[in-house]
Amino acid sequence: MEKKAKSFVIAIDGPAGSGKSTVSKALAKKLGLLYIDTGAMYRALTLKAMRENANMEDEVFLTKLARSTKIDLKEGKKGLIVFLDGEDVTGLIRRPELTNNVKYIARVPGVRREMVKLQRSIGEREGAVLEGRDIGTVVFPDADYKFYLDADAEERANRRHKELAESGEKISLEDIKKGVLIRDKSDMNRSVGALKKAEDAIFINTTKLSIEGVVEKLLSYIKN
Ligand code: C5P
Repeated sequence: MEKKAKSFVIAIDGPAGSGKSTVSKALAKKLGLLYIDTGAMYRALTLKAMRENANMEDEVFLTKLARSTKIDLKEGKKGLIVFLDGEDVTGLIRRPELTNNVKYIARVPGVRREMVKLQRSIGEREGAVLEGRDIGTVVFPDADYKFYLDADAEERANRRHKELAESGEKISLEDIKKGVLIRDKSDMNRSVGALKKAEDAIFINTTKLSIEGVVEKLLSYIKN
């Protein structure tokens, strides 16, 4: 018997600006699945570490912090709401300064263990579209479908620039491009949960595709 879409786990990985978030959200909606933005979880924990003036080199402290923190994602009317220990931090986790600090949190093995546990427990309950960096390789290596999205760095920086401008952040395209490249480098080179395409993931170059175009493409694999 065919699995119902409800119980599907769909893994979508790729670098910043590859279109993952918008596409994952739209795909989840079409399939009636939960959407899980795993980057938001790392961002929320980074916010907590920054608020506590944590030493970003102290892996023991950061691991303890991850263990004692409650991160929740809930679907709201305007998109996903991110809760950090019960506080809605959705509007606070996309600031450029915080974005530059996520790499210190994301490279700590103990932090990743906690995040992976949380992501699996949500995804296993009723299926989900999960987007991140290590979903197809570490979190759900047996996902029903795995996709890896990428786009030219120039285009990825343009997309980030537009997103940030829409949320009122004034930051130059050049600075965004630099930030995106630094983030790619640290995401691809950390010793745990590094960004890479799972061998069995379907690769999609989104540089010249519209959001709808990418969603249609993914759906064509899911339906076939
Ligand atoms: O997806 P987003 O750009 O919001 O992710 C922010 C950062 O969180 C990434 O640059 C990466 O360092 C980290 N991350 C991660 N593993 C994931 C998702 C995000 O390390 N599964």
